[in-house]
Amino acid sequence: MIGTGYGGSVAALRLAQAGIDVHMVEMGMSWDTPGSDGKIFANTKSPDDRSFWLRTRTKQPLSSFLGFPIDKNVNRYTGILDAEDFAGITVYQGRGVGGGSLVNGGMAVTPQRDRFSGILPSVDAAEMYSKYYPRANAGLGVADVPLDWWESAACYKYARVGRKHAERSNFPHIFVPNVYDWDYMAQEAAGNATKSALDGEVIFGNNHGKKTLPKTYLAQAKATGRVAISPLHEVTSVSPASGGGYTVAIRQLDTTGGTVATKTVTADRVFFAAGSVGTSKLLVKLRATGALPNLNGEVGKGWGDNGNVMCGRANHMWDPTGTVQSAMPSTGIDNWNAGGAFAEVAPVPTGIETYASLYLSITNTPHRAEFSWNAAAGKAELSWQRAWKETSIGMAKTIFDKINKKEGTIYRTDFFGGTKQWNDSLTYHPLGGAVLNKATDNYGRLHGYAGLYVIDGSLIPGNTSVNPFVTITALAERNIEKIIATDL
Ligand code: FAD
Repeated sequence: MIGTGYGGSVAALRLAQAGIDVHMVEMGMSWDTPGSDGKIFANTKSPDDRSFWLRTRTKQPLSSFLGFPIDKNVNRYTGILDAEDFAGITVYQGRGVGGGSLVNGGMAVTPQRDRFSGILPSVDAAEMYSKYYPRANAGLGVADVPLDWWESAACYKYARVGRKHAERSNFPHIFVPNVYDWDYMAQEAAGNATKSALDGEVIFGNNHGKKTLPKTYLAQAKATGRVAISPLHEVTSVSPASGGGYTVAIRQLDTTGGTVATKTVTADRVFFAAGSVGTSKLLVKLRATGALPNLNGEVGKGWGDNGNVMCGRANHMWDPTGTVQSAMPSTGIDNWNAGGAFAEVAPVPTGIETYASLYLSITNTPHRAEFSWNAAAGKAELSWQRAWKETSIGMAKTIFDKINKKEGTIYRTDFFGGTKQWNDSLTYHPLGGAVLNKATDNYGRLHGYAGLYVIDGSLIPGNTSVNPFVTITALAERNIEKIIATDL
């Protein structure tokens, strides 16, 4: 198993339960040992060496605050959040045992069923909604927001302001389930538990409260006794072994990214679960360099950013958003059908009153990029163009231009460097690159090679209409069930 994110964790658990030994190889750290401050994870407000993957300077998604740049120098370290730069876009990803579950906002959204055929047209939606989405939600520990508590909790004042403005402009407002332990958050708010979401912890890890994969799927997988995990090990090659199965080349890393050792192992079957970017980069390299020349021409294609764009709005003085803001978003504005945008109401957990409303929009962008191998540079490249984000901004504006007009407010210009109103340079939601039923068959079996599978976000062609991890998990549940029943 290459990678320990959502796809990899689901597959490892179900394979182990079926009596199959699994070895998971993870390039990031295990994140189970406290640092010198007694905490495993750094705080969002004070990034340190633990925060970023092999960078010497932080690259915060909100690059300035009140107009001042906030990035700072750090020591190069195998930290938890990778801000991976391609020519037209920075792709944020979790690094460590648990993948993106370590750094994400926990928003656990099942897409509306009538939108599903636009997401994965070759998959039986009835089966997904009756069986695999419920299985995924249960496995992840997804829970609804406790509404009575939410309505009066100080830490969700920002979300209630977001709801008020959405409703005053006649947009559907929805609550979004989360994997954060709501009881724990209520205890934080009451002053009875060590603060995590209420201390701004999220993108560099949560020391408490969040049900990450190491607490759910991976804990269960380990309990079978059939799953071994090797952190700080990166898979660099997979090729057919002479005696059958596959030879897997692995590089062991130290915490500055240097090579400690190179190893090869043989596996009967290999699952690519390195995430959309990790799997796509590996596969285009292996196809181009002759390790897996029979991979088809679809490998690398169909990559999208889930239409992510961010903006902030400046509220009037009578609409404060609160000094304590839960780092776990709980609500969204759904204008998908009319305007192609679904916006989550995001926190600005600075600890001071900012009068800001921040939003991450997911938009119905048609743009798709392709990964390819640049032999001269010895690296995979992505054909994304920055200008494509204009389409997404246009869709998000169907919500926020209207709200601004109604409220008599303006966009904030102090969050994204210079006087930019929109963050058009990143995604948190990379999807595609080894699309289901194109690069693979309808269950993730890679064309050209028996025993090679893709089981992560790269199967989904660029967009899920909402935050993606529940769909990645549900699709993995579906595919691994079929693979176990028919291939093993
Ligand atoms: P990942 O979870 O990315 O796991 C892949 C793993 O493989 C990683 O651990 C990686 O280190 C490892 N790996 C990569 N290459 C190699 C290699 N060559 N060898 C060994 N290991 C390798 N989604 C939501 O649904 N809701 C949210 O609220 C949300 N918030 C987010 C906030 C942030 C800041 C970020 C970055 C993402 C967020 N996401 C959210 C997105 C979500 O986390 C991802 O969609 C999801 O993690 C992808 O799952 P995956 O299984 O495809 O891969």
